[in-house]
Amino acid sequence: MNAPTEERAHALFSPSSAYTWIACKASTAAQLGQPDESSEYADDGTASHELAKWCLDAGTDAVAYMGRVIKVGEREFEVDEERADYVQMYVDGVRERIEAYKLTGARVEVFIEQRLSIEHITGEKGAKGTSDCVLIAVWEDGRAEICVIDLKYGRGVEVSAVENYQGMIYAEGARNEHADFYDFTSVRIVIHQPRVSEKPSEWEITPAALQEWIATVAKPAAEQGMLYVESVDFVPLSVTDFAPGEKQCKFCKAKAVCPALAMHVEETLGADFEMLADVAAQPDFDGYLTGVELLDNDRLGVIYESLDLIDSWAKAVRGRIEYELLNGNAVPGVKLVQGRRGARQWSSTEEAETLLKSMRLKQEQMYNFKVISPTQAEKLLKTESPRRWKKAEALITQRDGSPSVAPESDKRPALVIAPPADDFEVVTEDGDDLL
Ligand code: SF4
Repeated sequence: MNAPTEERAHALFSPSSAYTWIACKASTAAQLGQPDESSEYADDGTASHELAKWCLDAGTDAVAYMGRVIKVGEREFEVDEERADYVQMYVDGVRERIEAYKLTGARVEVFIEQRLSIEHITGEKGAKGTSDCVLIAVWEDGRAEICVIDLKYGRGVEVSAVENYQGMIYAEGARNEHADFYDFTSVRIVIHQPRVSEKPSEWEITPAALQEWIATVAKPAAEQGMLYVESVDFVPLSVTDFAPGEKQCKFCKAKAVCPALAMHVEETLGADFEMLADVAAQPDFDGYLTGVELLDNDRLGVIYESLDLIDSWAKAVRGRIEYELLNGNAVPGVKLVQGRRGARQWSSTEEAETLLKSMRLKQEQMYNFKVISPTQAEKLLKTESPRRWKKAEALITQRDGSPSVAPESDKRPALVIAPPADDFEVVTEDGDDLL
């Protein structure tokens, strides 16, 4: 995947934001000058990409870097067991794929974090993106496949490789980069999202179909977006230039101040507010909302479709207000206050330990001992002593996940819950059944 900082420095139309600038042509112009706060999640992902790069470059496993600290901007991330486990899943996936190509008789070339020019796609001078891993497999019969592999470290929604705009732009960048040496007969896009799914998502496309998409979708979108970027100072954007939607707005920096998104939220909820306002405006309105229908399940379903978008819009608006206030800019009706104090902690753990010992506290009074987790036990025993691991494994239980609401398109089967039986007894008029 991307090295976000580098991409941002060079590309207005970056592969990682391809869905945004393709779906909403005004988005690049709208984001100009908007604060660019890197989130902790994004930096966390960058740290894991760095770890993956170390492993693939050096042929080592992630566990070899346990305890190392990776600095991303001002933030520091330690390579702990969880990070090492997930990154190793991606590293193993890349290595297994290389071996699988070799088993079919292919010669394989590997490029880790390769910088790829995308200028021929977006028209932006010097624009580049960084692909996490590019594999080139060449067979003796003349076939050649280019495979771009993307690590996504998020826990959120599962990302599919099928028609993945970011992957398609990386694939075209990689194809173009190596086109002088190979005549590719297939293109493969692979997305590893180890915290969401053990199996990567992958998709194969012909080079001709990929180039057709670049010519008819990506290039025209970038051209239109660039026109807006070049003219926005003279011709204000019109609401019809925007196209709000969950996927494209999710990582858009203009989200908090986007008029089209605010209108979309208002339209989604507006009908209900208008209905309440209509009732309140009635001359005989007595302060009680009588005569209005409560929202039925159909209406709840309509609102549900926009909830994620509304939720991320609300977070963006809160974040932007905080940013303005922290920068000394007033926002009417809102102010900054001192938050709750943090949890108490020792100013020096060593000094606290010495002091408590001098007070003759017992070990069990001074320290919290905890048995290791199943994951830690597996690390310790599975390879070294499979028999002991089997015994320990028998003691592991796992709770079923609680039911959770998901959109109809979710891959998991729907849980069927029977409505509760109507088992209320009829209460007789004299109230005997209440006794
Ligand atoms: S928030 Fe959504 S609609 Fe507004 S500019 Fe960004 S992508 Fe377009």
